[in-house]
Amino acid sequence: MKTTTVARTNQVTPQCEGLSFRNHHTSEVEKEPPSRPLTANPEDEPPGKTAAGRSYFFRNVPATSWNDWKWHFRNRITTVSALSQFLPLSPREQRQLRLVTRRYPLSITPYYLSLIDPTDPDDPVRKQAVPSVQEITMSTLGMEDPLAEKEDSVVPGLVHRYPDRVLMVLTDICPMLCRHCTRKREWRHGGWMRTGAQIEAMLDYLRRNDNIRDVVISGGDPLTLATSHLEVIISKIREIKHIEIIRIGTRFPVVLPQRIDAELCEMLSRHGPIWLNTHFNHPRELTAESAAACDRLLRAGVPVNNQSVLLRGINDSVETMLKLCQGLLRIKVRPYYLYQCDEVQGTEHLRTPVETGIRIIEGMRGFTSGLAVPTFVVDLVQGGGKVPLQPNYALSMSQDELLLKNYEGQVFRYRNPGHQNGRRKVAAAPAVSGVVASLLADATPPAETKGDADAARVSLRP
Ligand code: SF4
Repeated sequence: MKTTTVARTNQVTPQCEGLSFRNHHTSEVEKEPPSRPLTANPEDEPPGKTAAGRSYFFRNVPATSWNDWKWHFRNRITTVSALSQFLPLSPREQRQLRLVTRRYPLSITPYYLSLIDPTDPDDPVRKQAVPSVQEITMSTLGMEDPLAEKEDSVVPGLVHRYPDRVLMVLTDICPMLCRHCTRKREWRHGGWMRTGAQIEAMLDYLRRNDNIRDVVISGGDPLTLATSHLEVIISKIREIKHIEIIRIGTRFPVVLPQRIDAELCEMLSRHGPIWLNTHFNHPRELTAESAAACDRLLRAGVPVNNQSVLLRGINDSVETMLKLCQGLLRIKVRPYYLYQCDEVQGTEHLRTPVETGIRIIEGMRGFTSGLAVPTFVVDLVQGGGKVPLQPNYALSMSQDELLLKNYEGQVFRYRNPGHQNGRRKVAAAPAVSGVVASLLADATPPAETKGDADAARVSLRP
């Protein structure tokens, strides 16, 4: 089913209000040059980590604007020429990026841009936000809609794939356009939001299907809607008795945490249980602002989970994922999923072999608390759904016992309880009276021959 475009947003302001711009490639200075030189001095803090939580590009922006998510939204960087005022881009790169953005547009919030180190072309934050020419040179690989969301749409914008839950896509607008996005196909349609009639059709489907207990509101990013508009939709979902929980999928805590304001949190707290899934991919995204946003949500009774995507050259190492997931726990966000990057056209350069994800989980499990270890999943093509992939810890399994490998690679025998066949010989029980014996017959598990099992278990240790 084709998603329809219903309401286009206005053109985004190409330049930011009140900012100092500098083109690092041509050294053209349009306003005041930054007072700090752009050198990779190891003594310097990276640009995103200044005390005020913003780079020197934005140091002249008044706090009232910087703390206002609508200011960031209005001032998104959406053109290559605006971007070249912040990052060093050669004329050739600019030409390439113009070509890419004709097919896959660009949008970066000033907040997220402030996390980029402009001196590092391989900066992991930059790679998620700044287009790459490989988006088009490798675009023969992958599919437009690998998860077949259109086929599983029961009404426009409502995907019903699993028995008890649905995905409700309210808009295709996002504050930032992530280069690895699964719904990249929607970008060329421009910004749209569902009409009142389309939302009513979705609600009607929910009312008629009482097996649905969980509604995931996603996008695009649903928090681009005004809080009052979102409240109308959420309260109508809440009126449906069989809907138990609502989940919101949003990247705002990462790319524009100022959006998580008191008004939004109060609204969400009125309509719980609401869960929020966000999308941190790299420890550099864990800032004071993003931590405060998550804290506000938690205080409003909204549990926050994180869904990362495994991305080549960004977070595809044990060290980075450990740092990210441990950092998430410190801000009380649970690492939930680590996704294999979907087979989406225009993302091939960011995809990793599946083994990389398994190796990362193997390098985390046991080496840090289990709460910090996400579930690695592949979302199957053609709407096959999510499949969790684990390192192989079970080397063999029979009715009697398993051979299990622990996180250090040591192999243990583990007795498999519950099967009657193949039990080891039971030691003779001490004599008991007839009544007691009959009571114990059902309640006492058969004992093993003393010593055998323990001796055997450690025998395989290296
Ligand atoms: S926030 Fe999500 S939907 Fe929006 S561009 Fe990023 S990955 Fe895609």
